[in-house]
Amino acid sequence: MPKEHDRDEQPAEAVRFDRVTKRYGDHTVLDGLDLTVGRGERVTLIGPSGSGKTTILRLLMTLERVTEGVIHVAGRPFSHMPGAGGSDGADGSGNLVPASERYLAERRRGIGMVFQHFNLFPHMSVLENVVEAPVHVLKEDRDEAAVRARELLGMVGLADKVDARPTRLSGGQQQRVAIARALAMRPEILLLDEVTSALDPELVAEVLDVLRDVARDTDITLLCVTHEMGFARDVSDRILMFDRGTIVESGRADELLDAPGHERTRAFLSAVR
Ligand code: ADP
Repeated sequence: MPKEHDRDEQPAEAVRFDRVTKRYGDHTVLDGLDLTVGRGERVTLIGPSGSGKTTILRLLMTLERVTEGVIHVAGRPFSHMPGAGGSDGADGSGNLVPASERYLAERRRGIGMVFQHFNLFPHMSVLENVVEAPVHVLKEDRDEAAVRARELLGMVGLADKVDARPTRLSGGQQQRVAIARALAMRPEILLLDEVTSALDPELVAEVLDVLRDVARDTDITLLCVTHEMGFARDVSDRILMFDRGTIVESGRADELLDAPGHERTRAFLSAVR
C-alpha cells in the first residue's frame, strides 16, 4: 500500500497527554497521566481490566472529556483550544479553554478507530461502507473514493466481497472491512481497541495479519489496546504497562515482555499467557 500523504511538515509528536486526569465522580480512572507518542510510533497499552487503557482511546476519540490536564495531537491542543485573546497554544502555555464541539469534530478527523464490535452499516454493501465517510465527511469525489475503497479492500483480502452485505461475512471479514473503513479516512493516528476480542479464536489470526500489514506498509501512528501479546510484540515499538490509571512500566516490546522490571507486569503477563 502506498504511504499516506507527506507528513514531513508535521511535528515529531503525534499525541501528548499532559497531566491528564479523568474522574467519574469520586473514581479516578487516569491520575495525572503524562504520555507522549511519537509520529509513526506503534505503542501498545497493556494491563489489567479497569486500569484505564480504553479511557485513553475514548478521550482521543472525543467520546469522553478530560477532568484535568490537556491532550495535544500533532503538536496542537486537542482537548482544549485557544481562548479569546490567547496565543495559539501550540506550546501548551497559551490561554486554553475546553474545546468546543465544532473544534473537536474538526480535530478528530485525523484519528481513526477500530473497535471490538465492527458496527458496519447492514443495509449497505461492503464497498459502500468504506466509501461513506470519505464522501460525507472528507467531501471526496464518490468515484475516486470508490477506487481507493477497492484498493483498501484488496489490501485486507476482500477484493471479492465488495458487493456483499456485511451480514453475509464472517466476524473476521467484517473486522477487516472495519479496518479498511478506518484507513479510508486517511488517519494519521489509528486507535485499535481490543479488535480481536469479540472474534472466534480461528478468526483472530486473519485480522492480526492485516494489522501487521498496515504496520509494515504505512507510517500511521498506532495506539493499541490488546491482550494478544504476540501481536503486541510484532507491531509495537513500545509497550506501556498500566495499572490503576498510571504507567507502571514502559519499554521496548521485547524487553518489557521478556524481562519485565516490575512485579505487577510479571504478574499480569503470567496471567494472560
Ligand atoms: P481498561 O480499558 O483498562 O479495562 P477502562 O478505561 O475501560 O479500563 O476503565 C477504567 C475504569 O473506568 C473502570 O473502573 C471503569 O469501570 C471506569 N469507567 C469507564 N467508563 C465509565 C463511565 N462512563 N462511568 C463510570 N466509570 C467508568
